[in-house]
Amino acid sequence: MDTMKAVVFRGVNDIRVEEVARPRPRAGQAVIRITATTICGTDVHIVKGEYPVRPGLILGHEPVGVIEELGEGLGDDYAVGQRVIVGAITPCGQCFYCLNGAHSQCRGALGGWRFGNTINGAWAEYLLVPDAQANLALVPDDLSDEQVLMLPDIASTGISGAESGNVRLGDSVAVFAQGPIGLCATLGAKLRGAALIVAVDPNAERRVMARRFGASLAIDPEGVDAVKAIRSLTGGRGADVAIEALGRQQTFEAALRSVRPGGTLSSLGVYSGKLVAPYEAIHAGLGDQRIVTTLCPGGKERMRRLIQLVQHGRMDLTPLVTHRFSLDQLPEAYELFSRQADGVMKVAIYPALAKGTAWHDAVGAGAAER
Ligand SMILES: [Zn+2]
Ligand SMILES: [Zn+2]
Repeated sequence: MDTMKAVVFRGVNDIRVEEVARPRPRAGQAVIRITATTICGTDVHIVKGEYPVRPGLILGHEPVGVIEELGEGLGDDYAVGQRVIVGAITPCGQCFYCLNGAHSQCRGALGGWRFGNTINGAWAEYLLVPDAQANLALVPDDLSDEQVLMLPDIASTGISGAESGNVRLGDSVAVFAQGPIGLCATLGAKLRGAALIVAVDPNAERRVMARRFGASLAIDPEGVDAVKAIRSLTGGRGADVAIEALGRQQTFEAALRSVRPGGTLSSLGVYSGKLVAPYEAIHAGLGDQRIVTTLCPGGKERMRRLIQLVQHGRMDLTPLVTHRFSLDQLPEAYELFSRQADGVMKVAIYPALAKGTAWHDAVGAGAAER
């Protein structure tokens, strides 16, 4: 029997490297060999038991790989051996929600998010891709795995914060939290032509990175009153768009208080418990503000557009990858990532690396360039 190595969720704070059955595609599905994947903040929520998934599930929703096997019906458009990425969200393209433009909510609330949620995910040597025709996005040969590794989730989600907020040319934008998603939201505001971008994060390293990703200035909310600062930078009005990229009451409220009347709060955070909008922050409900939420946009056309931005030099997300591991070392990488130790931003996981091999020893320092 064909087996593969994978990292399986066994229970709260329990992930294990196991030998499991290798997937086989049915009609319309594809199997890709994972060449690189990563760990997301959402995976941390799952492992800590804050977002329930079934024990026995392979986690991970950020796949970069090579087509290994195609199910019936895909041969005209794809071939074995092609390099691909697949969005974290895999819409079917045919249901009520997809045909109404809400692809991430495919077949129901959050339904587009399947990898490492309702079906096996990318922390494995092989991954079964459902609705492959709508979801396999080809990667040009001149781009390395690391250049596209952030596209399936982090970049798509972060940039969507600026898109959903409808950031316009010359806008003032505030971005609350500069983790990987917040940094991509900052980048999204820049790509959409914001004039002033104020990044807010208590972490000094992340504030430095924020400037690199396009922030005009980066504020430490523990040192200054961020809402006041944003108001004074915008003629007392507040930001045209505030993006929340953490998922806490505190940042949500600060974002809301920093939006001008008629402005937009674009929320990317994953919240738990109750979320409160104080009446004065929304001008008793009469402030003409919009609050919009977004789940990572997926599907191959979304991925194609993001790939284009990388290929034509409009964005470079490789600085986000700070650490590299083999698949065997994923539990170790998870520990580091979940504790935010050693200045980690994002890790890259390479399944082809032999057990215990240090990334640099195996592939050399030039490998990120491919
Ligand atoms: Zn994610
Ligand atoms: Zn659908």
